[in-house]
Amino acid sequence: MLLKYLDSIRAGLESLAFDSSCIICGSIESEFCTRCRADWRSNPRLIGGERFPVCASVPYSETARTIVLSAKENGVKFTRDLVVTELCGAIRVLTRESKWISKINLVPIPSSRKARARRGFDFISQVTNIAAKELNADNESIRFFARPILSITKRVVDQSGLTELQRHENLLGAFQVVKRLNSTAPIIIIDDVITTGSTLREAVRALKERNLTVLGAATACASQRRLLIR
Ligand SMILES: [Zn+2]
Repeated sequence: MLLKYLDSIRAGLESLAFDSSCIICGSIESEFCTRCRADWRSNPRLIGGERFPVCASVPYSETARTIVLSAKENGVKFTRDLVVTELCGAIRVLTRESKWISKINLVPIPSSRKARARRGFDFISQVTNIAAKELNADNESIRFFARPILSITKRVVDQSGLTELQRHENLLGAFQVVKRLNSTAPIIIIDDVITTGSTLREAVRALKERNLTVLGAATACASQRRLLIR
């Protein structure tokens, strides 16, 4: 009787110590519940055209938005690892046919000074660094290098709520290559989420202005529809 009682106390304490509610939706099922997992479905595929291949892994959803924002704004390691895994998957698919390439430069989309100050870190640069390390650990034919060479040099307003044309005008001339790239290896542009592609277009423009070779872009998450994300 006493033993049973003590056992029930132990079980109660354990459930407190190992709180396993879903980090995304709060469901008590598990740390990353089945429903959220189904929304965050790994499926690295090409979403861009032949001329400029863009590879994305997870389809955009409310769950995906929550995962990315928690990694980006709150620096949660669990969700950041989810983003990195999908990013690596997208880069692998993008480089699968590039057997002739031995080195690739991964160039992150730059964050604004304001965003970096708010977060206390540069999210896209951080995930690009980790992705390069992970890819190098399991790929012997290609070496990946994180090269944060782009910077925002023009004041841009928040993209949310802008039309496609307004986004284009807002971003035109906003990015510049600010660091010397002592490498002729082709570039893959890295972003966490691609929605309309306007940011990506500006990055391509800035890199090509310096006659750099851009192989394509890779992102963890993408939507074909126009969705708003910070
Ligand atoms: Zn959940």
